[in-house]
Amino acid sequence: MSQDYQALCQDCLRAPVFSSELDQKKAHQGEILCQCGGDLCACSDCLHIIQELVAGKRGYVGSVTSPVAEWSAHGGASESCQKDSGQ
Ligand SMILES: [Zn+2]
Ligand SMILES: [Zn+2]
Repeated sequence: MSQDYQALCQDCLRAPVFSSELDQKKAHQGEILCQCGGDLCACSDCLHIIQELVAGKRGYVGSVTSPVAEWSAHGGASESCQKDSGQ
């Protein structure tokens, strides 16, 4: 079983994957920020939330204030009302 060193952005719920435990720790300590500028956290709760998102859980995930409609590890969460019209 391979281990991913991930952290969860507290703002956009992106879950970047790091190549080493050291980088994961840096992210957890605020030395590496999410690309949106948000804080990353790699506590067991946040890692559990990532697992739930990967498994397909949507709606109120973790501490978000608005329900998650779409999610990807690279794109983070988006709400359905913010969806592009396709133009
Ligand atoms: Zn973010
Ligand atoms: Zn956390």
